[in-house]
Amino acid sequence: MSELKGQCMCGAVTVTATPAKPTLGACHCDMCRRWTSSMLVSFPSEPGYAALGPVKTYASSDWAERAFCGECGSALWYRITLPGEMHGQTQMAAGLFENAGGNALKLELFIDKKPEGYAFEGERRQMTEAEVMAMYAPSEEGDTQ
Ligand SMILES: [Zn+2]
Ligand SMILES: [Zn+2]
Repeated sequence: MSELKGQCMCGAVTVTATPAKPTLGACHCDMCRRWTSSMLVSFPSEPGYAALGPVKTYASSDWAERAFCGECGSALWYRITLPGEMHGQTQMAAGLFENAGGNALKLELFIDKKPEGYAFEGERRQMTEAEVMAMYAPSEEGDTQ
């Protein structure tokens, strides 16, 4: 995948990131819904991403933080902070990048939290809250070092 360049709404933060896969995912969890007013559409980034500008972070849970522009508040990325094999994994907000929107939406997380009033067209893998939590649980058990 080639590197993408993006920016926040006000332009104070610029981001360069390389998608690890040419696909998008959407998360409908309560926190993403409040953060974005709908769902966070993102792509998994390769580790070497970079951001310039007034980036702020918020520890939204014991296992992850969310980065946003300190000037305009645009959502930038979601990063796993939990020690272990998932540490540092980052989901980049796809809307920052001109070209990321061409990638296909392949996954919806927390589908059981999505409000009934809207939905994406088409079919893709969908995971409920219980299925997402089960996916994370084994790696947490393995993080006892
Ligand atoms: Zn901004
Ligand atoms: Zn979410």
